[in-house]
Amino acid sequence: MKAFLIDLKKCVGCHDCQIGCKDEHCGNSWLPYADAQPETGQFWMKVNQTERGRIPHVKVSYIPTMCNHCENAPCMKAAKNGAVYRREDDLVLIDPVKAKGQKKIVEACPYHAVFWNEKLNIPQKCTGCAHLLDGDHPVKVPRCMDNCHVDAIIFGEESELDLEGTEVLHPEYGTKPRVFYRNMPKRFVAGTVYDPEIKEVVIGAKITAMAEGVEFETTTDAYGDFWLWNLPEAEGKLTISADGKVKEIEFSTVSEDVGLGDIPLA
Ligand code: SF4
Ligand code: SF4
Ligand code: SF4
Repeated sequence: MKAFLIDLKKCVGCHDCQIGCKDEHCGNSWLPYADAQPETGQFWMKVNQTERGRIPHVKVSYIPTMCNHCENAPCMKAAKNGAVYRREDDLVLIDPVKAKGQKKIVEACPYHAVFWNEKLNIPQKCTGCAHLLDGDHPVKVPRCMDNCHVDAIIFGEESELDLEGTEVLHPEYGTKPRVFYRNMPKRFVAGTVYDPEIKEVVIGAKITAMAEGVEFETTTDAYGDFWLWNLPEAEGKLTISADGKVKEIEFSTVSEDVGLGDIPLA
């Protein structure tokens, strides 16, 4: 049983996996695994970039996304004549001959991982680079994995992968994805604390936050900045204290990360 493991802490957002996937499949027909991907319009591998927080407290997150080769795949259920099938190694593939005209396969994927090829009249998606795994190639790994110079993408036997603490995208869909993510970004709250009387940043101020009954703690650095990481999506209260002065701020990380900007500690 194979699976993908993507470590988001290692990913630097270089897009080499996305480019490698394009290079492998655009204009190259790997029948019977997949027909050629058109030059534009399809992303079998897509690195999603999200800007989080507010200037000056901003972070960028990168999440490489692809077909999840789901254990409980809606695309398989929507396909007629077995046009979407699962291999022995658990990769989910679309048969480009049997799938002709079956646009429903595109609509069935909740992850929008399937694309419609207008010219060939077929749905297409990531094949796990099965042509490389099966074929007589010196490198028998998916092209996106081979292209990643920081080893952020690993494809292998599930029993040999360390999946503890990993997460999948949208578990609520109930599809049981086989692409696992390590270090999925959680919410943060950040700010800069300063003393308005002396017009200086406050170094070493104690910052605590309570969210969902859990306490998070840090201190401001040499620039008066603090970053509280790995917060849940919740309402919370922040307490800033230094030199006998205390300030409380309510925040919400329910829908986004929070950059509080400059905070006077009067
Ligand atoms: S090639 Fe590796 S580091 Fe670059 S975007 Fe893809 S996963 Fe991230
Ligand atoms: S991610 Fe979409 S296309 Fe891939 S197996 Fe799951 S449902 Fe099918
Ligand atoms: S496994 Fe192959 S087809 Fe799938 S995203 Fe990676 S490079 Fe593209």
